Amino acid sequence: MGWVRFLGNGQVAVEPQPELRPGPGQVLVRVEASALCGSEMHSYRSAGGHPAANPGHEAAGIIIDANGCAQWCEGDRVGVSAVQGCGACPECAGGRYTYCAGLAGGSCWHADTLVARAHACVKLPDDVPWGVGVLLSGDGLGVPYHSSRRTRPEPGETVAVFGCGPVGLGNVLLYTFLGCRVLAVDLSPTRRRLAEELGAEASIDGAAAVVEAIRALTSGRGAEICLECAGRPETAALALQAVATAGRVMCLGEQPRIELSPSADLIRRDITLMGSWYYHIREYPEMLALHRRGLGVGKLITHQFPRAQAAEAYRLFAAGETGKVLLVP
Ligand SMILES: [Zn+2]
Ligand SMILES: [Zn+2]
Repeated sequence: MGWVRFLGNGQVAVEPQPELRPGPGQVLVRVEASALCGSEMHSYRSAGGHPAANPGHEAAGIIIDANGCAQWCEGDRVGVSAVQGCGACPECAGGRYTYCAGLAGGSCWHADTLVARAHACVKLPDDVPWGVGVLLSGDGLGVPYHSSRRTRPEPGETVAVFGCGPVGLGNVLLYTFLGCRVLAVDLSPTRRRLAEELGAEASIDGAAAVVEAIRALTSGRGAEICLECAGRPETAALALQAVATAGRVMCLGEQPRIELSPSADLIRRDITLMGSWYYHIREYPEMLALHRRGLGVGKLITHQFPRAQAAEAYRLFAAGETGKVLLVP
């Protein structure tokens, strides 16, 4: 076995992993499942090779060295937050690691073992499958859930999801469960079909007249909530055009720059434009409760590979034909 390394230009190797030793306040976790994330794709495709450039930051497993950390025992099942606060500041005390000035990010978690700050682990009940645990403690559900605490959807509202990669599909699942009417936009027929299977009332080809289609499905009003999950300027422009008066536009796809007319896009229609990053560790119990109430988060996983077959997993994921892809030992 070993860990996943990027060799450049989409080449992936699984190499022997050096032995890890947890430092003070850290635990050692044996990885039982990890998930591929779209944010790995830049270093995956880049030339030259970036072996340690983030191959994996969503994982769950078993604590094999609690290292004297009082809250954990060897054998505990945990999910691990990729955003790990310092543990000592007021934001960390409030369970908001993403606001911590001393946060550390996870990487290299497609591996036999990982080292994590003890307070960045969350307990997985015995009946939560590993894959579900990865989604509940990582981006899979974390990103949709945290952003939904900001968009504050009401049952019956229409939500347009622009981009149906894993984060977009997670939003389709969550907002459907919360009683919203979801319209899903993507270029890929496969991902549009996945969105419909996860509850989207209709899906729209991203190459078609998207804004007109959304207005036709909303009696001309537009969608009360538009979620930009593609990280593309043209998609952000569509979201701003397709949102209903007094609606909310949420940016979830990372991107450096979009074109914006404050007068036309925001001011004259009372539009709220916002962003949201990852999730707050204090929200984990709420996400676990949603799972218990039947959210069906495991449906986001469309493929699972042994870690030794990581190259094939990445090839399929990069082709944009999957939902969430898991690697297991
Ligand atoms: Zn991620
Ligand atoms: Zn902190």
